[in-house]
Amino acid sequence: MKLITIIIPCFNEENSIAELYTRLNQEISIINNYSFEILFINDGSSDDTLLKIKKLRNNDQRISFVNLSRNYGKEIAMAAGFDYAIGDAAIIMDADLQHPPEIIKEMIYYWEEGYEDIYAKRLKREGESMFKRYTSKAYYRVLQKMTKIPILEDVGDFRLLDRRCIEALKQFRESQRNTKGIYSWIGFRKKEIFFDAPIRKTGKSKWSLVSLIDLAIDGVTSFTILPLRISSILGFFISVLAFIYLLFIVTKTIIFGEIVSGYPSLMVVILFLGGIQLISLGVIGEYLGRVFNETKNRPLYFVEDYKSKKVENRIYEEIPS
Ligand code: UDP
Ligand code: MG
Repeated sequence: MKLITIIIPCFNEENSIAELYTRLNQEISIINNYSFEILFINDGSSDDTLLKIKKLRNNDQRISFVNLSRNYGKEIAMAAGFDYAIGDAAIIMDADLQHPPEIIKEMIYYWEEGYEDIYAKRLKREGESMFKRYTSKAYYRVLQKMTKIPILEDVGDFRLLDRRCIEALKQFRESQRNTKGIYSWIGFRKKEIFFDAPIRKTGKSKWSLVSLIDLAIDGVTSFTILPLRISSILGFFISVLAFIYLLFIVTKTIIFGEIVSGYPSLMVVILFLGGIQLISLGVIGEYLGRVFNETKNRPLYFVEDYKSKKVENRIYEEIPS
């Protein structure tokens, strides 16, 4: 019997867990011929999330959990999920019920058809501000123009991944992660399915504007060095223009002499070039910062506690740190 691990990263989700489990359980209990592991990744919650998970685990041995040593963020929590999942496939979903478990059946269907990465695309975005919708649209358009790998809009982490994809994902140990891009990067046979994302039931989204901007910049810097190239090209063109202007000024001075004037134009040029230099420096800094962070080569996360029934029955090669 094939085993499917359902990976659920949780950060302060004490109010969602019970309902999530009920709905998930309802769904997977009508799916025959597969066994399931429900793997909660407790990402350093400060509420009773872990306690809720442990309580559920007392009654349901399919539940396992990894308790991370602190809050590392969803991207790292998912990485832990990939490391600890023991299934032949894994399904990743959010704890807040924005990912309806009802389409798991469909994912499994396509998995059996031979697809290796079945991802769910949001049809409607309920309860999201116009601002978020438009900025996100614009961002994807720009990012897509800059990278060669396809970055899909409205596709989150809700997906089924075959063991081959999981093994591939496990090899990405970068600390500033943009998993969305990595899914595309690894390739394999992909299939798109659709779902309606409901409004978050309880709690609120952990994404602040600042963390979204962080993620957006990570998305760019981890998949393309185009901004660096743009600075070089811009620098080149400005130098060429400056040289032509230099010839013009020198010739003019030789022929007509020089009456000191031109304060406004001087000011404009200095400010404009100063701005461009600062931007280029910032772009270089972004990449340098990434290099700095990655060369430290720190472990992605530490685990405080790991409980799983299945591991006891299966030979599990090596539990990563
Ligand atoms: N999450 C996490 N660690 C974090 C933030 C979020 O594990 O630091 C989990 C969270 O519990 C949820 C999922 O990631 O299961 C998605 O989070 P959220 O709903 O806040 O994001 P959104 O749906 O707004 O993208
Ligand atoms: Mg959510």
